[in-house]
Amino acid sequence: MSVEFLPVAERPSQQALSSRACACQLSVVVPVFNEESVIPLFHARLIQVLAGCPGVHEVIFIDDGSTDGSPQVLETLRVSHPHVAVARLSRNFGKEHAMTAGLELARGEAVIIVDVDLQDPPELIPSMLAAWRAGADVVNMRRTGRDGETIVKKTTAHFFYRIINRLSHVAIPSDVGDFRLFSRRAVDALNRLPESNRFMKGLFAWIGFSQVTLDYHRKARVAGFSKWPYWRLWNFALEGVTSFSTVPLRVASYVGFLSAFGAFMYALYFLVKTFFWGESVKGFPTLIEVVLLLGGLQLMAIGIMGEYVGRIYLESKRRPIYLLDFFKPATPTAPGPR
Ligand code: UDP
Ligand code: MG
Repeated sequence: MSVEFLPVAERPSQQALSSRACACQLSVVVPVFNEESVIPLFHARLIQVLAGCPGVHEVIFIDDGSTDGSPQVLETLRVSHPHVAVARLSRNFGKEHAMTAGLELARGEAVIIVDVDLQDPPELIPSMLAAWRAGADVVNMRRTGRDGETIVKKTTAHFFYRIINRLSHVAIPSDVGDFRLFSRRAVDALNRLPESNRFMKGLFAWIGFSQVTLDYHRKARVAGFSKWPYWRLWNFALEGVTSFSTVPLRVASYVGFLSAFGAFMYALYFLVKTFFWGESVKGFPTLIEVVLLLGGLQLMAIGIMGEYVGRIYLESKRRPIYLLDFFKPATPTAPGPR
């Protein structure tokens, strides 16, 4: 039975896993979901870059349950290029889970995650490797500009990073996506994190170690379309906040406390007023207002708690993070001069 099918508690120890590791110097992990049109363009550009990098490489494509021609395109690449590995997940699990699979399967001393749509230019890999050789465990690539993305997406992304950093106790670098390099010990650390709610940007920051940030300009997608509609982005943001912060729970109790305090003061005011001046039957709108406000606040607080309880429920099932349909490993090669 492969490692990925075992429940977390039964997974082999880290030492056992690292004996599989470091069969090559660099692993490039590429999550793929319905990208038949871009895979060949991406690979052509990637091998040009890798040809100039010393050492032995492998490129692991994680097919996240594609339903277009991507599996065939990947198989063609794999057959003609020994450094290409292909893993297919049993269905579409989402990018976060595909990246988790890639990190567990990678055998390199350094591992780079890169999108297949060429928004993250492979040409930056040599400078990432240089930063790693200079001692960095994590090389974060920060987007200084984002071509081909709507104002709404840019603005929401901007605020997302600011808000999550306010709420989370771990500093999550702003405007850094999943395009990053990890040293072997950083990858081993990530592979030890057992949670199935995988907000990877948070986990990448959580592991710590020496992190270096390089700037780049994010290009537009060369072909195909983004797999992140706004609803999915919203759920992703919710995932981020709930897995890295309990502040919303605290806010719910503060709001509850404040409204209870307000209601108490209001009751006092009424008592005094009625005592001295009497009260005719007025105040129906006030009553409705207060009932609606308090009802709304209570539902909101229950909703926030529900978000966390739901996640505890999902975690408590201890399901595997992903399931592999197959994994065809690479024969790591050195396309370039040693
Ligand atoms: N992706 C994936 N699984 C998914 C959605 C996306 O593996 O469920 C991959 C996709 O093929 C691409 C990367 O994740 O390589 C980034 O996706 P996309 O370009 O759609 O996101 P965006 O750049 O618009 O944020
Ligand atoms: Mg993209």
